[in-house]
Amino acid sequence: MIGEPQYWRQFVRGTFFKPFGNGVYYLRECDLFFSETTQNQKAEKPLSVCVKLWEKCNLRCRVCVAWNGKDSRRFLAEGISRILEALSEYAPLRLVLSGGEPTLYPNLHEILQMALETGYSCVVSSNLTCGDPLRSLCRSFVYDVSLYGYDRDSYLRYTGRDLYDDFVRSFESVLSSGHIVVANIRVDHRWHDYLPGLMKWIEDFPVRKLRISNTLPGGRNIDAAKPLGSRECEELAAYMRDLRVDFPVVLPTPESRRRIHSGYIVIDPPSTGQAVAHVNGCPVQTTQELHLAVRAHSVQNRNLFTMQNYLWPSQEA
Ligand code: SF4
Repeated sequence: MIGEPQYWRQFVRGTFFKPFGNGVYYLRECDLFFSETTQNQKAEKPLSVCVKLWEKCNLRCRVCVAWNGKDSRRFLAEGISRILEALSEYAPLRLVLSGGEPTLYPNLHEILQMALETGYSCVVSSNLTCGDPLRSLCRSFVYDVSLYGYDRDSYLRYTGRDLYDDFVRSFESVLSSGHIVVANIRVDHRWHDYLPGLMKWIEDFPVRKLRISNTLPGGRNIDAAKPLGSRECEELAAYMRDLRVDFPVVLPTPESRRRIHSGYIVIDPPSTGQAVAHVNGCPVQTTQELHLAVRAHSVQNRNLFTMQNYLWPSQEA
């Protein structure tokens, strides 16, 4: 039955399967967490840390919550090294390097290499418009690629920049190099207009997972992009079930904002010279404060791993 250990074990293969402790597992092959006991379990340690290297990006997406128009906040490479070193005591840990656009960040390769050597399970979250700067580290990390359009017009409407050809070239290149690629699509109330086109577009590509996430409050153009409510999420789930795609799908939830407090830590660059970083929005000044903030945001873990939020290829409607 879906949600029982026997059900999800069928997806667990080879060395990609990592126990994170407390009955929580990470399937690197498709970048998914799951748990034997689901609902009321507490992680009591961080499971996933997203480090936003900087705000700079070459796109201007209408629902962006990362880029604020200034490109001003950034980590120095030494600051990131210190944070990764400090957090290594929570290993195993999933580490997401994002931005802004991380593949534009000058020290990305060396930071990723260091993180891999430290033992993190690494994910690079990219708009993939800048070729394949991480080719030499192929298969040692997961590329999490944002899909914004299935042709030039739809891409331009969403991103405000005419980089569709660069995206297609980069996407094809990382797949032909053998990178592990998962895809994500952020949806709003107009998902009917573009999700079918995007699903048609990606059916030819060997992606390992698709995450469909709800629009977050706080996007730059929130009037144009309304988050999905419960009924719309159910409607979208039914649509995806009918498609029967051959990779796991993480479905959007109406309260996706809450997940940020459930074992998922987001570390933003400092906005002033004083703070070391922001942990889930709170400024921290010292390594000790960093640890306190990370622990405080790691103990609630409800609803994170329920299999009901995942749609697997063989799942019946
Ligand atoms: S690619 Fe990401 S960071 Fe860049 S504008 Fe789009 S949503 Fe924002």
